[in-house]
Amino acid sequence: MARQTFVMGRLGKVLQIAAVVCLMIVWLPGPALSKPSAASPANSLYDNAKKAYYQLLENAQRVPNRDDWVSVIRLFEKVLVTYPQTELAYKAAFTVGRLYQKLGKKLDSESDLREAGRYYSLLLKEYPEGHLNDDSLFHLADLDMYRKDYQGARERLQSLLKMYPEGDRVEASRKELKRLVRLLTKAPTTEKTPNDPVEVSNKDSLTPEKPENLVPALETVETEKNKHVPLVVVDAGHGGKDHGAIGHHGLKEKEVNLNISKEVAAILTKRYKFRVVLTRDDDRFIELADRGKIANQKNADLFVSIHANAAPHKAAQGIETYYLGSGSTEQARETAARENGNLIYSVADDEVQQILASLISTTKINDSSRLASKVQKILHGNMVKRYRDVHDLGVKEGPFFVLHDTNMPSILVEVGFVTNQREEKRLGSKAYQKALAEAIAHGIYEFLKEKAPSI
Ligand SMILES: [Zn+2]
Repeated sequence: MARQTFVMGRLGKVLQIAAVVCLMIVWLPGPALSKPSAASPANSLYDNAKKAYYQLLENAQRVPNRDDWVSVIRLFEKVLVTYPQTELAYKAAFTVGRLYQKLGKKLDSESDLREAGRYYSLLLKEYPEGHLNDDSLFHLADLDMYRKDYQGARERLQSLLKMYPEGDRVEASRKELKRLVRLLTKAPTTEKTPNDPVEVSNKDSLTPEKPENLVPALETVETEKNKHVPLVVVDAGHGGKDHGAIGHHGLKEKEVNLNISKEVAAILTKRYKFRVVLTRDDDRFIELADRGKIANQKNADLFVSIHANAAPHKAAQGIETYYLGSGSTEQARETAARENGNLIYSVADDEVQQILASLISTTKINDSSRLASKVQKILHGNMVKRYRDVHDLGVKEGPFFVLHDTNMPSILVEVGFVTNQREEKRLGSKAYQKALAEAIAHGIYEFLKEKAPSI
């Protein structure tokens, strides 16, 4: 996301008209984009659209019902029409683009894809300062890719990198460009032909299906003999340029996560004789989407992501464990939004909720929920025995991106709040980190023992 101030106005007008007649466009200068207060009618209209969107995703069918999607699109368009001069209108327009894009791909419908492209182009043209413009460009490139217009996609991504070098689409765009170079050398002609020999295997996403540079940082050697031994992927949250939460005294979440994760991995391999893969064992940045892919590639039995929490209120403290869901409370959704980071935050009303679309299987959810309960119970139980006043915030569900793609029971543990004075101090100490790691590993062991009585 390229963070800039809004200069809304003309676009709102444009979209208002676009939404109604879809044809004639009159550009009128308007006042600066306003941000409606939380309880305003604009917000409730927008929330209404969002709710309908959640429902749509929750009830998502393999072959989408076009009418259901269009009725949600209309709700967002209503925001544009009714409150054109607001930031919500801008977000709504972007979401309409995304809805058309997804629908178009699901149904392979060129007219919906065209609508998506039209919305993105409008946003770019009429909102030069818009904070979702890099995302819009990225999606336009995705549409080009879908149509196998690799040259077009390349130009879009190149201009994205030029115009938004600080944006959060940079990394993904670079990756895509690399892939495009390969596709373009294979398919020298960029003309769309019915028998185009190059297949783009992953139509839903610009992310390459097989991340090449994913070398799991630490893993046990796989032999025929130990293949039946459960494999646990331990994911240290954040890393590299992504520091995660930062405490008032400077404690960095990424460091706490890494120390605990390495300790968990050591205990799981040495004490419990499991196979373990760490998504990172040093201070490096890994895309959220790639973390789950590691677990899938390795056919892991279990995925545990380790994080530390943050809250605006310094008093907030305690341990909580999440599994994938729509977010049982506002606080759960906020935690998920923070952990999902800028990538998702910038399109919070769209992509994060997209997660709901793939509540992959009931088995995964049930197992994840059991795993979360097991780990949370042992984790809190052990810590409260050794340390005073460790709060039990319980097991919750939340729309965490990192839990989305995995095909196995997956949880995210929040070991404490770096924003709380006492917990920041504790989380910075090796002894506390080790105690947390012991308990997390124990919880994992108990879960796997129940699941597979032979171990
Ligand atoms: Zn985190």
